[in-house]
Amino acid sequence: MNHFEIQDLPGKGRAMIATKSFATDEIIFEEEPFVSHQFSWNTAYGYAACDHCMRPLETLLENVRRLANNQAVAVPLVEHDPTALWFPQFTQCARCKVRYCSEDCLVEAQKRYHRVACMGAFRADDTHPINVLNETWKKMHYPPETGTIMLIVRLMAMYQQSNKKSEFLEQLQSFQALIVNREQKIYHKMLGENFERQMEQLYTAFCNAFKSEEFAMFTTPDAFKTLMGILGTNSQGIATSVLAQWVTKVSELPLPDADKEQLDTVIDELYAKVGDFAGEFLNNEGSGLYILQSKINHSCVPNAQSTFPYSNDIVVLKAVAPIEKGDEICISYLDECQLERSRHSRHKTLRENYIFVCQCPKCRAQASDPDVTSDEDEDDDDEEMDDCDDDMA
Ligand SMILES: [Zn+2]
Ligand SMILES: [Zn+2]
Ligand SMILES: [Zn+2]
Repeated sequence: MNHFEIQDLPGKGRAMIATKSFATDEIIFEEEPFVSHQFSWNTAYGYAACDHCMRPLETLLENVRRLANNQAVAVPLVEHDPTALWFPQFTQCARCKVRYCSEDCLVEAQKRYHRVACMGAFRADDTHPINVLNETWKKMHYPPETGTIMLIVRLMAMYQQSNKKSEFLEQLQSFQALIVNREQKIYHKMLGENFERQMEQLYTAFCNAFKSEEFAMFTTPDAFKTLMGILGTNSQGIATSVLAQWVTKVSELPLPDADKEQLDTVIDELYAKVGDFAGEFLNNEGSGLYILQSKINHSCVPNAQSTFPYSNDIVVLKAVAPIEKGDEICISYLDECQLERSRHSRHKTLRENYIFVCQCPKCRAQASDPDVTSDEDEDDDDEEMDDCDDDMA
């Protein structure tokens, strides 16, 4: 049973309201994505993740050595390698060789989309229309990635394979509601300066990949733009990493202080090694659409947070502050660094990325703050940006 409901608030629109109180750290709900997909470049660069749930498909050693580009890197405490639990279950599609973390994921993928999406031997054929579409996307969207056209490709397969098409369309429609008129801004954000021409090229490649009559409702220019809009405004980033999972695990080990200190040094050195070669790109990265999670509004003082504790695409919404029955449940669409910035600066990011003006308690309290002039704001932002970079290093 869910302990929240989706309500329409006058003047605000859809909101998630708590129907019981939650203590800090309490789980509000867990949700599997409606659809998820690894990013295109992330896949191309050999980041190995389950094609269905994005669970890492490398052992800790494989992962660290690939990221450091050094087969000699050694790692202690490999008996705590999180992949060891899964390794015996790894499997693949017999036809196209796409890899899965488990028989469960393979079966689920087959059941929902892979029966029609499987490209068999054509998976390696650069001239296959799906591969052409993916390449067209990749040329427009270099890392750091924030989306992939392959999420839309998977949606099309889900539609084609579904025997409850009207239900599928209804669910897809529930994401659409978030899109406001000013879609142009989103396309600009996704595709950059030449977005109109790029949109044209993507659209052509999309139509080539989905020529059959049954996709006719998605291949009109407007329908394609709507799909792109859904991708731009509703998708939630997903990152999985066997290294990060191992670090969490060994950091919780009951070790004597001296050993803990030594372990911290080893972990720092490991991150330095992988960072030298892979830079900021340490994770399997992708994104997903979540039916419930996407209904949660933003607040600059959120009382909840989306977490991914299972190292796959299942989102767990956790309270980060006490929530009373009747309170709206909010998450932050901004990262921690962005949240610390001025109201002016937060609003700019939210307006550009999500097309709304934040009216949260923090923004209302700061409403009388003078708007910093653009020069000061830029300086301010740069400085804050540096702080954040330091934090991450
Ligand atoms: Zn999986
Ligand atoms: Zn296959
Ligand atoms: Zn706000």
